Amino acid sequence: MYQLKTHSPEETMNFSEQFAHYLQAGDVLTLSGDLGAGKTIFTKGLAKGLGIHEMVNSPTFTIVKEYTSGQLPLYHMDVYRISDEEDIGLEDYIEGDGVSVIEWAENIPSWLPDDVLSIDIKRISEHERMITCTAHGSRSERINEEISKHERTSH
Ligand code: ADP
Ligand code: MG
Repeated sequence: MYQLKTHSPEETMNFSEQFAHYLQAGDVLTLSGDLGAGKTIFTKGLAKGLGIHEMVNSPTFTIVKEYTSGQLPLYHMDVYRISDEEDIGLEDYIEGDGVSVIEWAENIPSWLPDDVLSIDIKRISEHERMITCTAHGSRSERINEEISKHERTSH
């Protein structure tokens, strides 16, 4: 597990921008947190770090948004309205050649790979957020190690 407290939206974005540099095709991140926690801010930073220049916003009405202008495709999914029994072709993204960021991933447990990195954002105060990254396998453990090493040496 890796935890970081941020004190502004910019700090959260900087963190996820750096985070992006340690990702590779096939990595799956789940993103949780209340409305206004900073999930979209986090995803914007991630997209920036991947070199994506398209405008990133919440995917709520589209289920999947694909951003392909960077080094790796980014698939931003919001499966709030999807149930595990439905087959809407999510595995094409999740097992695809990009990075998947999934909001409300708890709705689709059987479509997820075992090795996901769960990112949870909690609002502590108006400008403070606790970001908790929990690994569920060796690949996501590796990402956590890289980002914690990066954070230790960059400040
Ligand atoms: P979500 O997608 O989780 O609903 P957003 O990313 O859209 O949340 O919004 C987060 C809001 O919280 C933004 O208005 C942002 O300016 C504000 N905010 C304040 N402090 C932080 C912080 N440390 N990290 C991220 N967002 C923050
Ligand atoms: Mg959002």
